[in-house]
Amino acid sequence: MSNKSVATGGRQASALGEEIVGRINRLAAISETPDNLTRIFLTVEHRAAADLIMAWMVEAGMSAHLDAIGNVCGRYEGERPGLPCLMLGSHYDTVRDAGRWDGPLGLITAISCVADLHKRGRRFPFAIEVTGFADEEGVRFASTLLGSRAVAGTFNERVLASRDGAGVSMREALVQFGLDPDHIGAAARVRSELLAYIELHIEQGPVLEAKGLPVGVVSAIAGATRLAARVTGMAGHAGTVPMELRRDALTGAAEMIAKIEELCLTDGRGLVGTVGYIHATPGATNVIPGETHFTIDLRAPTDVHRNRALSDIVRQIEAIAKRRKLELRLDVTHENRTVPCALWLKTQIAEAVAAEGYPVFELASGAGHDGMAMVDIADVAMVFVRCRGGISHHPDEHVEVTDADAGARVLLRLIENFRPQKAADS
Ligand SMILES: [Zn+2]
Repeated sequence: MSNKSVATGGRQASALGEEIVGRINRLAAISETPDNLTRIFLTVEHRAAADLIMAWMVEAGMSAHLDAIGNVCGRYEGERPGLPCLMLGSHYDTVRDAGRWDGPLGLITAISCVADLHKRGRRFPFAIEVTGFADEEGVRFASTLLGSRAVAGTFNERVLASRDGAGVSMREALVQFGLDPDHIGAAARVRSELLAYIELHIEQGPVLEAKGLPVGVVSAIAGATRLAARVTGMAGHAGTVPMELRRDALTGAAEMIAKIEELCLTDGRGLVGTVGYIHATPGATNVIPGETHFTIDLRAPTDVHRNRALSDIVRQIEAIAKRRKLELRLDVTHENRTVPCALWLKTQIAEAVAAEGYPVFELASGAGHDGMAMVDIADVAMVFVRCRGGISHHPDEHVEVTDADAGARVLLRLIENFRPQKAADS
């Protein structure tokens, strides 16, 4: 399959993949540091990347502008001006020391598809818009989905007061960038302007690779619940307190963590739980830990599933605390709902995947995406593209050119056959 090249629209299709990879590499050169890719919201690199992306949009036959939060917005008119649009897109900010594909692949693929349609003079009974979201990762201000929330009209003005590591507020950073913090509302779109939002993205996990598939249809963007746990026992002398009299907050936490893993392992239906942080005090070799803090990150393909798993976990770790005479406090620090991909869109993606000669395979997204915000104004769906080893948020993130090409051909076919939702489809 690696040398497969299928004629689409009268030219060798691998050209699309090569153009996309070339642009991915050009965009990756725009970085805070030359050796590690870092491109953060409202920086000079953000500006340079936006300029380059807008130039590609114009070359592809689109009008292009920067909106009130710094998203790049391209529009390819339909058979007549002003028609509602099929919106495609992804983000172009990165984490620190990032890979080059997370975000830009979906954005650049969408632009390349429009360029191909433009070259062939194709127009549709709908417009196509391509949006590059300015901040999805939330690195600078510890708040995610800023770009897509502005577009969805759900941007929370309170985050304007949050400050980055250097003490600069988001309000100040917007002004320095040349944007008006009091007019972010101007970036908002309304439901009647959008027929759907479809995002192509690297999988960021190992499932497609294990299945030997270049592309997959996303079933849902998994919701997540995060908790902070505090376990309180009794600190004491490591030499004088007998084992059976101890109330060790760290061994108690260890048993709880192992129980969380066991519950997720035996679920078998896509539940994933992670304890990514633990801290014990007083933290000395010869002192029994008196207090331990740890975090829990829990995700599942549906909200019902996640909530049921959460109450299971809470019940079981409370029992551990009780048996060990420890005090357990749990606080929910973050919660977001599962966003199911719309059935009528998944159907059309599946048709495009099958028409390109690939088996149709559905998988849930464990990672968050801009669709989580866009669902407030449009039905959403996603196409996943295989990435090497499932590695993401890491410089080793990699997509083969043939897979970039497969993703582009699926997206192109999807656009060319796109049928806006009729009442009967819902
Ligand atoms: Zn991403």
